[in-house]
Amino acid sequence: PFDVLVVGGGPAGASAAVYAARKGIRTGIVAERFGGQIMDTMGIENFISTKYTEGPKLAASLEEHVKEYDIDVMNLQRAKRLEKKDFIELELENGAVLKSKAVILSTGARWRNVGVPGEAEFKNKGVAYCPHCDGPLFAGKHVAVIGGGNSGIEAAIDLAGIVKHVTVLEYNSELKADVVLQERLYSLPNVTVLKNALTKEITGTDKVNGISYMDRETEEVHHIELQGVFIQIGLVPNTDWLGETIERTRMGEIVVDKHGATNIPGVFAAGDCTDSAYKQIIISMGSGATAALGAFDYLIRN
Ligand code: FAD
Repeated sequence: PFDVLVVGGGPAGASAAVYAARKGIRTGIVAERFGGQIMDTMGIENFISTKYTEGPKLAASLEEHVKEYDIDVMNLQRAKRLEKKDFIELELENGAVLKSKAVILSTGARWRNVGVPGEAEFKNKGVAYCPHCDGPLFAGKHVAVIGGGNSGIEAAIDLAGIVKHVTVLEYNSELKADVVLQERLYSLPNVTVLKNALTKEITGTDKVNGISYMDRETEEVHHIELQGVFIQIGLVPNTDWLGETIERTRMGEIVVDKHGATNIPGVFAAGDCTDSAYKQIIISMGSGATAALGAFDYLIRN
C-alpha cells in the first residue's frame, strides 16, 4: 500500500505529493489530467514571485518538480470510489483498486459554462471566469458579467474599479446576491444591471466584440458592444464521485479543518474541491502542503 495517495494532479495535488514525498514516505498521485485547470489558463500574473507565466508552462514545471521525487504518477486515471477499510481503498475507472494509509483528495473544480455560441470559441480571448485573475486585462474596457448571485455581483463590484463599464446580465427578475452587495453595486456609477436577460451569444472575430441577449419580458433580442465577458454562474467541485462517504457542503465542497482533515480519519483534502474561502493557484498549493503535513502527522500517530 501507499502511505499517501493523492487524487488529482492540479496545483493542490502536485504540492501535496511533493510535500509528502519529502518525508520519505511512499507516495502516489492519480490524475485524470495532470495540471488541472491551469491547462486551460493563458496568462497567470498572480502566482507570487513569478511576474508572468502561462498555464501549460506552470503545469510542466509542476510535473518536473513532482518527477524530482520518487512519486508514483498515474496520469489519465479517474478515481470513482473511495472506501475506508483496513486501508483506504481507491477504485479507478479502469477497475484497479489502490490501497493507502492516507489519502489526499484534490480533484479541483470547474466553472459552470453558460453554453452559448462563442463561449468556448472565445475562452481566453475575452471570455473569462476569474475576475481576480483576468480583471486587469480589461482595464479601461467595457465588460459584461453573466450571473447575479454573490459571485457575479462581487465580480461586478471588483471589475467596476478596474474597467470602464460593467453590464450585469441576470436571467431572473431579481438579483440573488446579498442585499449589501446589491446596495454597493447600485452605488457605482459605471454599472448597468439587466434583469430577465437570457444570454444568447457571445460575438467576436478573433476576440470578443459583444454579447447578445433576449429580454425575457419583451422577447426582443439586443446586442451590446463590449470587449470582455465574465461568466459567474457557479464553480462546481469535482466531488460527486464521493457520494455520501465524505462530508460535503450543500455546494458539494469537501469540508476540511485547519489541518486539511476531512470527517474520515486518514482522508485529507486540498484546493478547489474543498470549502476553502477562495479558489486560486497559490491558495491551492498552500492547502496541498497543509494536507500533506496533516497526513504525515496522522501517519506518525497511527
Ligand atoms: P484543479 O486545478 O481543478 O485540478 C484538479 C485535478 O484533479 C486535475 O488533475 C483533474 O484532472 C483531477 N481530477 C478531477 N477529478 C478526478 C477524479 N475523479 N479522479 C482523478 N483525478 C481527478 N488561479 C490563479 O491563481 N491565477 C489565475 O490567473 C487563474 N486563472 C484561471 C483561469 C481559468 C480559465 C481557470 C479555469 C482557472 C484559473 N485560476 C487561476 C484558478 C486556478 O486554476 C485554480 O484555483 C487551481 O487550478 C485549483 O487547483 P486544484 O489543484 O485545487 O484543482
